[in-house]
Amino acid sequence: MTINRRDFLKIAGISAVLGFGEFTAYELLRPGELFAKTPAPPKGTAAAPPQDAGLRALTANRWAMAVDARKFNSPEDVQKCSDACKRTHNVPTFDDARRDVNWLRTATFDQTFPGLTDDRITDALIKKPYAALCNHCGDPPCVRACPTGATFKRKDGIVAMDYHRCIGCRMCMAACPYGARSFNFSDPREHIKEFNREFPTRTKGVVEKCTFCSERLQKGLLPACVEASGGAVTVGDIADPKSEISTLLAANYSIRRRLELGTEPGVYYIIAPDTVNPAENSTPNFDKNSTRNSDGKSRKENVVAPRREERKNSDGKSKKGGK
Ligand code: SF4
Ligand code: SF4
Repeated sequence: MTINRRDFLKIAGISAVLGFGEFTAYELLRPGELFAKTPAPPKGTAAAPPQDAGLRALTANRWAMAVDARKFNSPEDVQKCSDACKRTHNVPTFDDARRDVNWLRTATFDQTFPGLTDDRITDALIKKPYAALCNHCGDPPCVRACPTGATFKRKDGIVAMDYHRCIGCRMCMAACPYGARSFNFSDPREHIKEFNREFPTRTKGVVEKCTFCSERLQKGLLPACVEASGGAVTVGDIADPKSEISTLLAANYSIRRRLELGTEPGVYYIIAPDTVNPAENSTPNFDKNSTRNSDGKSRKENVVAPRREERKNSDGKSKKGGK
């Protein structure tokens, strides 16, 4: 069966309409509210590649990442993670920002969490730099959109790429609501600053993105950005309530990107409690997986919908909030 771009956009539009409203528009996980249930992998997902018997691979039932926004205070803090990722994976750098290729990039609050203008979000959060990367979504629209199976979800939650099957149609890019994928408009090998002979290069006309460093996990190594972050980024098995990442998320406030789309992002952003205004007149439970709050009321009563509203700059002038 062939599918052209118009058909795809039609399908994607219908899916978005049908999916919208089924999930909460906003989730703030407070300490102790982490819901770490891992849905069974859907039929047809590919298994993780076989492990090398000589290596102690790091494995998980559901890989996830916690980006501790409290520890990212300048764009340079994010850039060192991006540089490590580029060096490790032969990711090219182009002067033209529209053609640049990034698996992890520095983003503003509005770029990372568009439309999130909840009363609780403070300027302290808005002014921070954020590390934006593939969310390795639990229900990844990019996988559904790919006509060749070049991108697929593994049983351990990693959304992987087979570059040899990528025909460059960019349907996955159109389907990804996070802008997590990059396209090689020209030969990337001419724009690689530092070659890593142990990782394959890509070619012109191929899409690429973060792999959660699956090749390093398989060797028993942590992802390059995790190592470079100096403790600001954690990966682990979120299906294991005793894992480091589950413990970390259970003890801290965290938010995820564009939860209203129902993609189940696997990247969490930990935020400091003093950067979130306390809720007024309610004790909402933002856990989208709960149908009831602790007081027995339907969670819908406590869902805080994203609002477009004006925020004040530090000089008192108003500015547009969200995108
Ligand atoms: S963030 Fe985008 S590219 Fe990554 S799994 Fe989700 S939809 Fe796919
Ligand atoms: S997990 Fe690996 S591939 Fe993904 S952004 Fe970090 S370094 Fe890059």
